[in-house]
Amino acid sequence: MSVDATRDPSAPAAALAPGLYIVASPIGNLADLSARAANVLRRADLIACEDTRVTATLLRAAGSTRPMLRFDAHRERARVDALVARMADEAVALVSDAGTPLVSDPGFLLVRAARAAGVPVTAVPGPCAAIAALSISGLPAGRFFFAGFLPARAAARDAAIAALVAIPGTLIFHETAPRLAATLDALARILGDRPAVVARELTKRHEEVVEGRLTELAARYRAHPPRGEIVLLVGSGEGEAATDADIDAALSRALRTMAPGRAAASVAAAFGLARGPLYARALALSGAAGGDRAGG
Ligand code: SAM
Repeated sequence: MSVDATRDPSAPAAALAPGLYIVASPIGNLADLSARAANVLRRADLIACEDTRVTATLLRAAGSTRPMLRFDAHRERARVDALVARMADEAVALVSDAGTPLVSDPGFLLVRAARAAGVPVTAVPGPCAAIAALSISGLPAGRFFFAGFLPARAAARDAAIAALVAIPGTLIFHETAPRLAATLDALARILGDRPAVVARELTKRHEEVVEGRLTELAARYRAHPPRGEIVLLVGSGEGEAATDADIDAALSRALRTMAPGRAAASVAAAFGLARGPLYARALALSGAAGGDRAGG
């Protein structure tokens, strides 16, 4: 058993040792605040946070009256040095508006600088929307790739998706409700019609987890635009039956955005096949489609 049963993590300690504490907070249900997190929030000298109004609610739930310092994405770079200097003799807790700091949230520069300065950095782990979604998705969780938010602009988004085509594990994205349907369409077009899961409003009243093929989900959410916060998960496509028709379909999709050489390489990686025969097929398909793109 890896839990340290000799320490009661919720018991008030005489003082919190100086350093940086990375404290996870609930993603929608305040009851998910851990006893240890509440304890650290009550004892830290300073709470660095994104939105002080959001964190004020968290601190009330924790019974904390400790001072807050705004540390959002716009202020991170400017405030790192002064904050690390304070950690020499103060305990600084970093929280996000929700979930685990650093995961699509500020904190990376602070942790890196604290570690470089030899400041102890302590994890107070807890909720994380991406991991919560993965844990209930029914998609393989042994290997996964967290891709965060995709770029907003379509061209950059498509390029970012194309770079994920050969990842041999479940893909996890943060996504906003207004963009969900367009993102599902783009994923289907570039990665193929893989199995996927939309996890919405986790731990909240309107929690909903919907699974289906990417094209089915795109149609569903285009017809019924969703609200709330969303984690989108996409199966790796591995283990799917790779018939000639499947391979041709994947090559044809890839050829819409790639030259035959790259299309063959990405489809070969996705299906675990040799590139050579697929390159010949990609050339034939691009010729049949009237395309005259440079291969390579
Ligand atoms: N650091 C946070 C974490 O560990 O969960 C994530 C912060 S990121 C700025 C916010 C995104 O997380 C949302 O846009 C959504 O994609 C996802 N998210 C946060 N809370 C969620 C929830 N209750 N249900 C589903 N997704 C959620």
